Amino acid sequence: MTVESAILQRLFDARKHDQPWVLLFDYDGTLAPYSAHPSTAKLPPETRSVLAQLRDTPGVFAGVLSGRPLADVRRMVGLKGLYYSGSGGMELDLLGVEKNWHDHPDFRERLHHAHSYLTRIVERYPGVWIETKPFSRTIHFRSIGRKGQSAFLREMNGYLQRLESHFRAVCMAQAFEISPIGAWNKGDAVRWIVEDACRDGICLYAGDERNDQDAFEMVRSLGGVTIGVGPNAPQAEYRLGAPQDLTAFLRRVAHQASC
Ligand SMILES: [Mg+2]
Repeated sequence: MTVESAILQRLFDARKHDQPWVLLFDYDGTLAPYSAHPSTAKLPPETRSVLAQLRDTPGVFAGVLSGRPLADVRRMVGLKGLYYSGSGGMELDLLGVEKNWHDHPDFRERLHHAHSYLTRIVERYPGVWIETKPFSRTIHFRSIGRKGQSAFLREMNGYLQRLESHFRAVCMAQAFEISPIGAWNKGDAVRWIVEDACRDGICLYAGDERNDQDAFEMVRSLGGVTIGVGPNAPQAEYRLGAPQDLTAFLRRVAHQASC
């Protein structure tokens, strides 16, 4: 049995027991292929169309979760009627009802301080830049030359150890994400969405990076389905090669669900 057939069977077995589907996806590297800059990582039109088809299928809830700010991920996907989460779980749009993590009063100052220090590191490494988000920072190093990479990673890891008491850092293949300790993560976002959509449904989550780990763990604890997309995905129940494979699979899901 192929991976795709095995997942389809899980979903349709749940459907036989009248369990709705809560289908959740990371954005970058999962639905949309990576590009040189986050602003150019567009959602392919066929992926947008299959998400709309799933959204319009009775008994299906769909959502997109991202490290991007909420307004950004909503704009990149461009569909109404979906659940959204931005800033790695700290911002939520529960079908039009917004909910945000409330930060600690000292947090803004600490983040400002960390940002200043990170700027001084980043300035010395051409190709590295900081993305400013409402509650967090992402340091992108996908364009750093091979020569500077090991010195940069060493310096960053040293600094991040000093931040450990207040910030949590996730190192991915091309970026570091720094967020406040105790803040909502993608796992919390999955929980909020499932509670809002349907507690008795089957939840599926697809993601491609270490920052999807919390979502995978939450979905596992709910007895749902986890799909790792691409080579850098954390351990998941099923694995697909690339965003295009996920889109092709979702087309099958949407087609069969409409029959
Ligand atoms: Mg991703």
